[in-house]
Amino acid sequence: MDKRDYYEVLGINRSATEDDIKKAYRSLAKKYHPDVSTEKNAEAKFKEVQEAYEVLSDSGKRTQYDQFGHAAFDQTRGQGFQGAGFEGFDFGDIFSAFFGGGARGQTQANRARPRKGADIQRRMTISFEESIFGKRETLKVPAYDECPNCHGTGAKSPSDIKTCSKCRGTGEVTVESQTLFGRTQTRTTCPNCRGTGKEIINKCPTCGGDGRIKVNKDVEIRVPEGIETGQQIRIEGFGNKGMFGGPNGDLYIVFDVTPSDIFTREGDDIVITMPISFSQAALGAEIEVPTVYGKVLLKIPAGTQSNAKFRIREKGATNVRSKVKGDQHVIISVITPQRLSYEQKKLFEELAKVEDATANKSAWERFKANFIKSKKPSA
Ligand SMILES: [Zn+2]
Ligand SMILES: [Zn+2]
Repeated sequence: MDKRDYYEVLGINRSATEDDIKKAYRSLAKKYHPDVSTEKNAEAKFKEVQEAYEVLSDSGKRTQYDQFGHAAFDQTRGQGFQGAGFEGFDFGDIFSAFFGGGARGQTQANRARPRKGADIQRRMTISFEESIFGKRETLKVPAYDECPNCHGTGAKSPSDIKTCSKCRGTGEVTVESQTLFGRTQTRTTCPNCRGTGKEIINKCPTCGGDGRIKVNKDVEIRVPEGIETGQQIRIEGFGNKGMFGGPNGDLYIVFDVTPSDIFTREGDDIVITMPISFSQAALGAEIEVPTVYGKVLLKIPAGTQSNAKFRIREKGATNVRSKVKGDQHVIISVITPQRLSYEQKKLFEELAKVEDATANKSAWERFKANFIKSKKPSA
């Protein structure tokens, strides 16, 4: 089955603000909530809406989605985040958010379900050359990981883990509350064990009972060839440790490319400005042009004007998606000499005399004549 575009699912356009996304999501979630909706396939639609919202409400994931579409999330091995996101998602939460806690009296309780760990975003600065050729670098990224002392249980020793006395291991308790609709009973997460159904007598001294500790993880970053400022990559599973057996979050690396002194990037093309002399422009020349791949000889024809553009094929940047190389554009800048040697001055004076003799019109008049000729509408 083809996956629908997330923007289409939420009925918004690509320039939607965070607020627009939230509004669209709230009204659709209300419409399709399986507990209240009478729509056909409400549950499937609800999940679709939920999934779209998960991506578009997270600026990191949204950028990723805008760049690569659904492929951004299912190219990776194993489960994409959408499966994981659902397990962590709780119908009870959303229900109480919209209808007021427990108004219907029987929302699903917040049992301790597997929750995906939080995603982490880091920026990485690379040089212009590194952005073209890619590179590998090991970064230290602070993230929550399983506590090595208690292996995530949060207990000092296995005998410190007991069945919760308040909920007798179910992770849920029933609370009575007064609402607009009268007295209602709600099943809710056990406050004693926070839904785990387990009580810890002596907490692990390393993590203080959390089961996770902050560590600096070594992560090998493979910078793709051709990456640009603002683009990012996702490294699955290198975010924070998941909760209650849920998968780890992901690590997003956003790149900042330091500008080059001589090259400018325009899409997949690279642009360079090359100065040439009067005589090279007039007589033509073969000049050496630097490219990121080394020097290339470029033939400049006689009579080249300033700002003339030449293209050197496939000496640009590699497109991150298509892997196709762009070109290098060479913009010519004819340099007027500012200080002439005696000899140069003499030669220019000679040249000026010849120009006066050959041209019976001034340069301006010739230019004007050409301009008007070229502007004439063709018959
Ligand atoms: Zn621990
Ligand atoms: Zn409990």
